[in-house]
Amino acid sequence: TYVVTDNCIACKYTDCVEVCPVDCFYEGENMLVIHPDECIDCGVCEPECPADAIRPDTEPDMEPWVEFNRKYSLAW
Ligand code: SF4
Repeated sequence: TYVVTDNCIACKYTDCVEVCPVDCFYEGENMLVIHPDECIDCGVCEPECPADAIRPDTEPDMEPWVEFNRKYSLAW
């Protein structure tokens, strides 16, 4: 899965939301999140993010961000 990280905070761009083929972006408290079970790992959103906030969970130390994205996407 891909996850949204803290660079997204207060970001006003929604280019990532528009390109996602499965609509798995959700609105968190002050940033967007990706539902980790709905994301199909296509990667098309990552280069669209001007804040470089979208990262693959295969990078180091991403587990807290996966849980954060899960928590806020399930709130809807
Ligand atoms: Fe959506 Fe693909 Fe990004 Fe996952 S990697 S959030 S499916 S655009």
